[in-house]
Amino acid sequence: MDQDRIEVFLEQFRREDPPYIRALAQKAAADGVPIIRTGTQDVLRFLLRTRKPERVLEVGTAVGYSALFMKECLPDTSRITTVEKVEMRLREARKNLAAHDEGKQIRLLEGEAAEWLSALVERKETFDFVFMDAAKGQYLNFLPAVISLLEPGGLLVSDNIWHEGDVLESRYAVNRRDRTIHGRMREYLHVITHHERLETLCLPVGDGMTISERL
Ligand code: SAM
Repeated sequence: MDQDRIEVFLEQFRREDPPYIRALAQKAAADGVPIIRTGTQDVLRFLLRTRKPERVLEVGTAVGYSALFMKECLPDTSRITTVEKVEMRLREARKNLAAHDEGKQIRLLEGEAAEWLSALVERKETFDFVFMDAAKGQYLNFLPAVISLLEPGGLLVSDNIWHEGDVLESRYAVNRRDRTIHGRMREYLHVITHHERLETLCLPVGDGMTISERL
């Protein structure tokens, strides 16, 4: 079945997002900023609205689109911490959060995610939901800290596990530059599907995503 046809068909059954969320998605598309795809949004919406996590951690803010989208799916008492390191993205993210996060539910951590993850572990902060959406080649490096930060029963959602389809191809079919990410993403998938502290489901949604529960 054709994925695009399914997307168009499902459009009529989708809950409507607030107008500002739709406007941010359009602006991101016009500016070439990568944001979560609609299929990924559907899964996140379902998980957040049903599980109502209190403390969400996002790795990879970009301009704050998914953080704001997640806020709209959560109770007012939930908090989101999101990490971004690229100044150009941070400028937009600060602006978007100032305009649309009146309740100050979102905390933006500026800088390298690996450093922030260590700092959060050191501060003994914990989360009941983690959304991993940063540099795909680094997921594996972030994993030990993420597992430490996740409470038992908490969820780790990892996006773009197909890496635009490359991960499904043979190693030799992808160009040299992408070969490292290809190998690292396959390794990440193997680790999270065989990890003794995680139970993982791989979903062929959007650019591929996984949902892992911390056991
Ligand atoms: N979650 C966002 C959304 O859907 O609106 C999209 C995130 S985009 C796919 C990935 C972001 O992660 C980029 O803005 C990139 O700068 C950031 N990033 C990548 N590696 C990072 C790292 N090591 N530390 C912090 N941010 C990182």
